[in-house]
Amino acid sequence: MTNLTNRQQEYLNAMGIDVWLPKGAIVVEHAGEEVAPAVVEAAAAEPVTTAELPQSALASLDTDVSTLDWDALQTCVTECRLCELHKTRTQTVFGVGNRNADWLIIGEAPGADEDRQGEPFVGRAGQLLNSMLQALDLAREDVYIANILKCRPPQNRDPKAEEVAHCMPWLQRQIQLIQPKVILALGRIAAQNLLQTNTSLGRLRGRLHYIDMTPTPVIVTYHPAYLLRSPLEKRKSWEDLLLAKKTLESGVS
Ligand code: URA
Repeated sequence: MTNLTNRQQEYLNAMGIDVWLPKGAIVVEHAGEEVAPAVVEAAAAEPVTTAELPQSALASLDTDVSTLDWDALQTCVTECRLCELHKTRTQTVFGVGNRNADWLIIGEAPGADEDRQGEPFVGRAGQLLNSMLQALDLAREDVYIANILKCRPPQNRDPKAEEVAHCMPWLQRQIQLIQPKVILALGRIAAQNLLQTNTSLGRLRGRLHYIDMTPTPVIVTYHPAYLLRSPLEKRKSWEDLLLAKKTLESGVS
């Protein structure tokens, strides 16, 4: 990406990136043992619509999430009471964007702004995410944005394992329905939960990971909230974004 448009340069400036990376190809390494059994294969049958949801489905979620269509999935998420977080949420935060996107961006969990507005990444971290996307010549509407958790943890504490376990099938179904060409995991919590690993974010960066049987490469980068606190890391984040773009363009899977 040597020929930047003025607009891209403006957005890079907005991200606080004014020093260029060394020229040359970014080496793409395939993850070895980091592969995680997280996403099941897409169901071949016709998706289940909201009208076809069994009576019991919303109460117990005694239903096969991998069969739901978008509306049924959204209804189940809106009604979800599988963990304690439903008691403190203002509303669920399902996800937003292009349901046929090449890019799926996955964060950690809604914060206060997202809980209020019902949309992921609308606060300060979201503004930086928008700049990161625009630096790649992507509008927010071009990508799909979701979180590991659909509900805000009180005081923005880290998600608990049981909360992630209950919430992950919703995200897995979103991945199946979108079939993105690349997944960008933002931050340690998103990356570790998605890839089911305890490996540090620093070691997860810079290579491709795969979630079970899905062909979509996962690339890990810093969370925008962390970048707001540690702006010097924005250059590394830009490297990660370029790796994701290059991976997508080269059709690596
Ligand atoms: N941080 C996240 O991880 N997700 C959001 O939606 C907002 C902030």
